[in-house]
Amino acid sequence: MDPGLSWARLAEMDARTPSLPPDIAGRFAAIVGEAYAVRDPAEIAPYLIEPRAKFHGRTALVLRPGSAGEVSDILRLANQTGTPIVPQGGNTGVVGGQVPDASGGQVIVSLSRLNGIREVDTDGDTMTVEAGVVLAAAQAAADAADRLFPLSLASEGSCEIGGNVSTNAGGTAVLAYGNMRNLVLGLEVVLPTGEVWEGLRRLRKDNTGYDLRDLFVGAEGTLGIITAAVLRLFPKPRGTSVAFVGVKDPDAALALLDIARAQAASGLTAFELIPRIAIDVVLRHVPGTRDPLAGVHDWYVLFEVSSSRSEADAEQTVEAIFGEGVARDVVEDGVQARSLDQANAFWRIRHTLSEVQKEEGGSIKHDVAVPVAAVPEFIRRANAAVTAMIPGARPFPFGHVGDGNIHYNISQPVGADKAAFLARWDEVNQRVHGIVADLGGTISAEHGIGTLKRGMLAAVKPPIELDLMRRIKAAFDPNGILNPGKVL
Ligand SMILES: Cc1cc2nc3c(=O)[nH]c(=O)nc-3n(C[C@H](O)[C@H](O)[C@H](O)COP(=O)(O)OP(=O)(O)OC[C@H]3O[C@@H](n4cnc5c(N)ncnc54)[C@H](O)[C@@H]3O)c2cc1C
Repeated sequence: MDPGLSWARLAEMDARTPSLPPDIAGRFAAIVGEAYAVRDPAEIAPYLIEPRAKFHGRTALVLRPGSAGEVSDILRLANQTGTPIVPQGGNTGVVGGQVPDASGGQVIVSLSRLNGIREVDTDGDTMTVEAGVVLAAAQAAADAADRLFPLSLASEGSCEIGGNVSTNAGGTAVLAYGNMRNLVLGLEVVLPTGEVWEGLRRLRKDNTGYDLRDLFVGAEGTLGIITAAVLRLFPKPRGTSVAFVGVKDPDAALALLDIARAQAASGLTAFELIPRIAIDVVLRHVPGTRDPLAGVHDWYVLFEVSSSRSEADAEQTVEAIFGEGVARDVVEDGVQARSLDQANAFWRIRHTLSEVQKEEGGSIKHDVAVPVAAVPEFIRRANAAVTAMIPGARPFPFGHVGDGNIHYNISQPVGADKAAFLARWDEVNQRVHGIVADLGGTISAEHGIGTLKRGMLAAVKPPIELDLMRRIKAAFDPNGILNPGKVL
């Protein structure tokens, strides 16, 4: 549950907001057909719980439309009846945006049945997919056409393209290819009034006024429901090589980033920072994992180089980076994956980091970004502040250091009371976000605002910016029926 939203407050909202009247529920169900109107509480339950079990809402109805036309009919009816709608994709979002409130009066619209790949255009290097296509399926469709769709997240087996667009997802390939905003050319969107914006353009250039597409990217389902997207494709690399390297500290990691960029240029396709505590926790809880290096290092970097020429070319570039890193005393030790299995084993360590922390009890989380050069200072200052506030607290900062984006998470002290530790969430957030602000950073690099960070926006956005956001919301959704209470 949102630490700022007490059970008492939820009960108060519950009493004020009427549940969904049965006749209106029936009219919604008629749009999708009874088979796709989920009303059984047991079947509804998975739609109400999100990955971190922090938010848990209620609803009487989940609608599973099978076409953009049905989505349009749903929103038209919602707008007429004042029924709040919560769009949901793969339900992997970590800020509570896809979960209804506790009133029981909000209806979930799941986009998962809209899972068609409409077109792959290898001349224009685009792919038109529906919103419910799972990210891994989009990657596979691109691969089958000898192209790359580069967005890569640990949740890629469940998250969906509509959710990726709506959260402006980031992940491990942002360094080379940008985040979802850079990967979308066009969108088909159903507006809160039920009108459809046919914006499925495949253009690389289009300077015809305000960019509506960019408004929907990262809007977290507050401005419209995305039903399809045109995605950018890239040439498939002919070779990749992955290395796991031990370094003294985040300063050394940045020095290595500098070397890697100079050697690989745009071929540097991932560069992730991992602290020793993360390796220890993974080895303790994830069966079949092995320490990649013989010795123990305080920090590690997992990096990947891709080549448009060959596997050998990628491997040679990694060797050159490694060699220069050792020569300049930046690298303590390292290993280059010699097989796909070994590369996958390295990536598995990285991809389990989000999930594995729960095995160590409570974890207070941040998804922050600072200018890349400020990452070491941020980690030093945040570690000092957090361990002074909570002696024994275990900082677990990891992530996309090449983008300045650190998942600054803190595991509870060993043996501490989990609830008492988590009760300090807001206080710790405030302290860490204060340091981020001081360094010119942001409190949400890639996860979004949702419900979790809604209360923090006023402190980090100038009033004019918030006011413009509210005016945009009112222009798109005059009756406030789409994902109310999220972001703003
Ligand atoms: C293990 C794990 C690792 C993760 N790693 C990363 C990472 O590296 N980088 C990253 O950026 N995120 C990461 N995430 C977060 C999450 O996977 C992304 O935010 C993802 O883009 C959400 O997609 P989804 O389909 O699950 O969306 P959901 O969770 O269903 O929804 C997310 C938001 O989008 C809205 N929405 C969903 N579909 C639509 C639609 N069709 N139209 C309009 N609004 C819609 C929802 O209302 C909600 O506000 C991770 C999550 C997990 C659990």
